[in-house]
Parts: sequence; structure tokens; C-alpha cells
Amino acid sequence: MDGSRVAVIIEDDQDIRELIKVVLAQSGFEVHTAGTGAAGVEAVRSHRPAVVTLDLGLPDIDGFEAARRIRLFSDCYIIMLTARGDELDTLLGLETGADDYLTKPFRPRELRARVGALLRRPRQGAVAGQGTAAPVAGVGAAVGAGPAPSGTPSPSGASAPSGTPAGLGAGTPAPSAAVEHPPAQEGLLVHSGLCLNGAMRTAEVDGTELELTRTEFDLLLAVMEGGKRVLSKAELVRRLRGEGYDVGSYISDSDERTIEVHMANLRRKLGDDPRSPRWIKTVRGIGYRLAV
Ligand code: CA
Repeated sequence: MDGSRVAVIIEDDQDIRELIKVVLAQSGFEVHTAGTGAAGVEAVRSHRPAVVTLDLGLPDIDGFEAARRIRLFSDCYIIMLTARGDELDTLLGLETGADDYLTKPFRPRELRARVGALLRRPRQGAVAGQGTAAPVAGVGAAVGAGPAPSGTPSPSGASAPSGTPAGLGAGTPAPSAAVEHPPAQEGLLVHSGLCLNGAMRTAEVDGTELELTRTEFDLLLAVMEGGKRVLSKAELVRRLRGEGYDVGSYISDSDERTIEVHMANLRRKLGDDPRSPRWIKTVRGIGYRLAV
């Protein structure tokens, strides 16, 4: 089967495992399950899924360790499931390797919405595999901080999204050589030393490339595009789901808290101080905007 429609569920609670299995099967996935972290990592290795749901609390290794091991060889979408809302707080500022988080108990439609949104978004690894692998790998080696080389082209890169502008990577000069981007280049957003390339899905601060997750990149892009306009957390949730307008879809507290977790991770990678932000300003009680 096409790897873009394979999912692996790593979950020790049988009831929840069956629920997730039903939801993903209804969404058209070939589903494989595992009840322990170690078995889950092996299932990901053998089935090469596009999506993995990963429980944080597992009997052997925890979800953090499972994600770390998966990230050594796969750039699949990882949705981490947490048992309680307060577990989200422990995720603040942590590099988990996950693309999204969901708090139990969740509604089946919430999980469907998350998976659907992830699949609509371009895969960073797939883009990097199209002629831009060199600068990504180079930065990863130079920084040496990232636990997992998410930009590494994996064998699953074959499932590249058809919408990817392949010509960009092949035709233009190597981005690594172009620390000074031509300001007129299309799709380029520049602010206070931060350079975001929407087409290539790359972000640089003062010429150093950042290793952002898909979610972090999309949030940063939203803030950069928004400029001085305040983006509410609900608006950012919808943006990540791929909903352009207020379509009245359900947004929970944990959805909004998840945005806070992603923003905290993003700020840490940017080296941005929330109290004196260079890029992302918190608008208390509402959301975020570009610091200008
Ligand atoms: Ca569990």
C-alpha cells in the first residue's frame, strides 16, 4: 500500500487503541498497532507509515523516547497523545519530535481533524530531499543541537507532495551559498534578521538555518504574514487545520494550549525572549503578533 495511507498506533490502553484504530480506518488508513514503545518503533520501521499516534505514557519506554528513536529514521507525522491537560505543561519548551499533541479524552472528530490537517501540509523532509539536502544537513551538523535530523531525506521521501515546487530546488543557486537573499525573491519574508522562505519552507536567523517542525514553521509563517495584526489562538488552530476562515469548527481548550506549547518551542529555537521579543509578541489573553 501507498505509505501515505499507512498509520501506526502506539498505545498501551486497549480501549483507546481500538478507538483510534476505528477512526483512522474510517479515514482510509491501513492501521498497525503496538502496545509498547519498543514494539511501536519497530512497527514504524517495518510499515513506514505517514502518521503515527504516540501515547506519552507507555509501559516500557515513554513517548518522548519512542519519538526520539522514530526520528532517527523517519519523518512521519507524529501526534503525541497525553493523558491529562496538565501533561501539556510538561511539554512546554521540550523538543519532543512530535508534530502535534492531543489530550485525552478526545473526540474522534478532533483526531480526524488533526490527521487531515497534517496530511494537507507539505512535508519538510520531502522538500529537503529535492536538491536542498546539502544545506539542511550542513546546518544540522554545524548546530549539532537537534536530536534528530528531521531534514534527512528518508526512503519515504518518495511520497513527496505533488504540489511541491520541484523547480525551485533544482534551478536556483544553492541556498547555502545565498546567505544574503535577494530581497525581491518571491515568497520570502524578512523581519529583523529572520528570513522565511515559504516556497522552500526554510527559516534562517542571521544566516543560520533553523530546524523547525512543520507546525512550528506554519505558525511562524502565520505570524510573519500577519504582521501587526493579532492572531488569536483559535485562529492559529484553524490555520494549522487548513481552515482558512471561521467555519464554526470545534476548538477546545487543549487545542489552544497546544498552540502555546508549539509557540514555546518555536521561541526557544529562535532564541526569542518573550519578555523582550524580537519576533513573536504575546498579546495577553488573546494570542500573538509580530513584534514590530
Ligand atoms: Ca498509556
